[in-house]
Amino acid sequence: MIFIKTPQEIEEFKVAGSLSKAVLRRAGRMVRPGVTTREIDQVVESFIRLHGATPGFKGLYGFPASICASVNEEIVHGIPSERVLVDGDIISIDTGATIGGWVGDNAWTFYVGTPSVEWQGLCEVTLDCLKAGIAQAVPGNHIGDIGFAVQSLAERHGYGVVREYVGHGVGHVMHEDPNVPNFGKRGRGVRLQVGMVIAIEPMITLGTYKNHTLANGWTVVTNDGSPAAHYENTVAITKDGPVILTQDGEGPWCPFQGGI
Ligand code: MG
Repeated sequence: MIFIKTPQEIEEFKVAGSLSKAVLRRAGRMVRPGVTTREIDQVVESFIRLHGATPGFKGLYGFPASICASVNEEIVHGIPSERVLVDGDIISIDTGATIGGWVGDNAWTFYVGTPSVEWQGLCEVTLDCLKAGIAQAVPGNHIGDIGFAVQSLAERHGYGVVREYVGHGVGHVMHEDPNVPNFGKRGRGVRLQVGMVIAIEPMITLGTYKNHTLANGWTVVTNDGSPAAHYENTVAITKDGPVILTQDGEGPWCPFQGGI
């Protein structure tokens, strides 16, 4: 069931969205060679609770941490660990914060030191895919228009589009209807209407999009070991067009470079 939000509810939602972006920025500032993903998780969890919010991911379906931290060939749902980040890595951090009854959900792939030009290109195009998807989030369009925009841009660059993990409605809980795939056909799927709030989150790979889950039951990796990038914002569909709820005073985007 798709829950439609009133204009007032969308205003309230912005509190959770803004905090979620601040949380993601806080995580990104910790990204540098030598730090472990667990250290980032611990700081982020404290930051969220200090602001009177609760981590959106901790305990969700049994997930053990406050952030998903997915390094290089890890696509999504990486569990923070003693893994030490090294120069040239990329790390996708997915953070959510719940406050005032609403859940913000956003993700960003940061550079650890200086990744290769090829890997930076993957990140830049994946962010462009997110922007292209958001541009389609207008009343009267369909879910398939978002997926088509994301997929066609990614595939034009020869990248892989992950099929099994998709965007979703967001509201009082992290995952609501409808699913928002990163692939699709124009004019297909649920018709978008004013008051829907969805997380758009392209997951794009340098090589194959085929993937599997590690023995920990969570971490999803590419089958060929190629890196993946993941960018996400929570977006409201309004009569004036898409409104990104996961933005703070610095806007809806983070720097690519970690540690700043
Ligand atoms: Mg999400």
